[in-house]
Amino acid sequence: MQIFTMTKRALANLVGKPATLMYPATPAKQYEISRGHVIIAIEDCIYCGNCQRHCVSQAIVVDREARTWEIDRLRCIICGVCAEVCPKDCIFMEPDYPPSTTGTAMEFVQGPPAPPKAEKKPKAEE
Ligand code: SF4
Ligand code: SF4
Repeated sequence: MQIFTMTKRALANLVGKPATLMYPATPAKQYEISRGHVIIAIEDCIYCGNCQRHCVSQAIVVDREARTWEIDRLRCIICGVCAEVCPKDCIFMEPDYPPSTTGTAMEFVQGPPAPPKAEKKPKAEE
């Protein structure tokens, strides 16, 4: 009986359409519950490093001094923890898929320059 099922499946596969899509030439199917990929609104980031510390696959690197945020999309397992722990709500899960790559999947985001520090007023002499 099993051989009959297997032969039927093999024949269906021979004459049927491929089960896979030629992504990205053919757009991938999107589902409502898909987490898609991580994006950041860097202008709201305070470089606290919370996302980096909580990332289960060490995909995020935050540099407070250089005001940069990096993600390695090949390491990211799209768990969404970084978006949950961000105190500024500046990490989001975008439902579409990131572009395909043949090389590195590092995405580097440079933040805007730090606002100038307020000058200290000299104390008034008594
Ligand atoms: S947790 Fe949010 S605010 Fe903190 S470094 Fe990450 S993205 Fe920026
Ligand atoms: S979604 Fe998960 S694995 Fe991906 S960067 Fe955020 S915490 Fe790390």
